[in-house]
Amino acid sequence: ERTARYGQRPATLLLTGLAGAGKTTIAYALERRLFDLGRAVAVLDGKNMRRGISRDLGFTVDDRSENLRRSAEAAKLLNDAGLICIAAFVAPQLEVRRRAAEVVGKDRFLLVHLHAPLEVCRSRDQEGMYAAADAGEIANFPGVSADYETPQSPDLRLDTTELNVDQCVDQIIKLLRDRNVAVD
Ligand code: ADP
Repeated sequence: ERTARYGQRPATLLLTGLAGAGKTTIAYALERRLFDLGRAVAVLDGKNMRRGISRDLGFTVDDRSENLRRSAEAAKLLNDAGLICIAAFVAPQLEVRRRAAEVVGKDRFLLVHLHAPLEVCRSRDQEGMYAAADAGEIANFPGVSADYETPQSPDLRLDTTELNVDQCVDQIIKLLRDRNVAVD
């Protein structure tokens, strides 16, 4: 009934990539586009999770992974309610991404890797996060003091230095059509 009402099959898109790769920008541009197409959609990201549900967590590896576990549970609830969920998280570890896919359900989980070279990500950083990571003020920062495990077989990989925001959104919409998530 929900699929018929909303004209979509619920799914969670995990946008993963380094800080500054473009996850938040593309997540909200994609939400806008899908909303304008009449789809029912919501964004989860580090900011809205850490403001409430993950307020008690810090930035250790364990806390980051717990934040992603809770986010996956929230994404699952949104999907159960019939919504498309766009989840924008660094999610640097393969194992953590695998567990998130399991929580959400593999048949409705899509992984999109947003790539930009580290120097470009640094140059886009308005909030001084990389500088803070360099100075040791933020620990376990992927690309500086922690690994980012590059996804080997994402559903889609987009280079945000080659494609602008609209082109990235076009590609993701195409993926959703190809996978019969967003119909029409
Ligand atoms: P993240 O959420 O991955 O940390 P943000 O979306 O917060 O990244 O920041 C990315 C920055 O890069 C923004 O200032 C955005 O305007 C800029 N940018 C330039 N080109 C692109 C692109 N093709 N896709 C996404 N962001 C881009």
